[in-house]
Amino acid sequence: MFIKDIFNSKKPVLSFEIFPPKQESKVEEVEKAVKEMANLPIDYMSVTYGAGGSNSKNTARIASYMKDNLSVTSLAHLTCVANTKDDIENILNEYKSLGIENILALRGDKPRDYDGELFPGYSHASELAEAIKKHGCFCVGGACYPECHPDSPNIDVDIENLKNKVDAGVDFLVTQMFFDNNAFYNFRDKMIKKGINVPVTAGIMPLTNAGQIQRMAILSGGASMPSKFMKMISRYEDNPAALKQAGIAYAVDQIIELVSNDIDGIHLYTMNKPETAEKIVTVINSLF
Ligand code: FAD
Repeated sequence: MFIKDIFNSKKPVLSFEIFPPKQESKVEEVEKAVKEMANLPIDYMSVTYGAGGSNSKNTARIASYMKDNLSVTSLAHLTCVANTKDDIENILNEYKSLGIENILALRGDKPRDYDGELFPGYSHASELAEAIKKHGCFCVGGACYPECHPDSPNIDVDIENLKNKVDAGVDFLVTQMFFDNNAFYNFRDKMIKKGINVPVTAGIMPLTNAGQIQRMAILSGGASMPSKFMKMISRYEDNPAALKQAGIAYAVDQIIELVSNDIDGIHLYTMNKPETAEKIVTVINSLF
């Protein structure tokens, strides 16, 4: 099923993000986690793509596993960094042959230890989105950044580029994680003013352990952390059980407020943890 059709038929939409393993030996472990999460009432699951292709086979494998074995709509990520146009064509043919219908078109960042040409095919996600649309038969998503992508000089330039990406064929958007809902509301207002009117689903990452804090700061590209969030971290960072409980409660609070403010969807960065996903969904289930 095309994800744009899910957005047309219900609101809000609930989705999870999974990352595939780098090693073959871990595929079954991830499939087990995906299977547990598929029992929850979700609308689709996305599978990330290792920029540079480090785990690209496993992205396709997990995305088709959830679709074929668990009847869950899948969204396979794809990055253009370090890929030639022929590489992209081959991956699109593979996705198509596996019956994958939804692709999140991304630029990606420089892969670690990669010294080759960074963008030998497409330089921006908008170019990739256009190529995927030309290839045909795919619903295409794109990423967006409520607090501005780090490469952009300011949010207005970033939104201008986002508008071009949507015009190139992006059917829906998924946001970078954020911890301050006001950042999202301001961004949504700017998008509406710019005439961007595809559905936008909000990326929420629950904090479940102290080790995640630094990673979150890097992954989020410097998302602002409100004082309420920082106080929670400093109060509980040495108490793993309390931090996990508080982190999940914080994510739940964010979601309830977003849903009350007419959001198109929530995309949970589940970090392959069925237990965390279940704890959150059990509380918010009837909001969806
Ligand atoms: P783009 O849309 O190309 O934007 C990147 C920068 O270029 C922005 O600053 C933009 O304003 C600017 N720009 C765009 N078009 C132009 C133009 N024509 N001229 C000048 N500047 C322009 N990474 C992975 O490796 N694998 C994943 O699976 C993955 N999944 C992600 C999922 C989500 C929801 C998000 C938010 C990010 C994900 N990322 C992933 C990270 C992503 O690859 C990086 O954030 C990357 O830096 C930007 O990707 P993009 O697709 O947003 O790029």
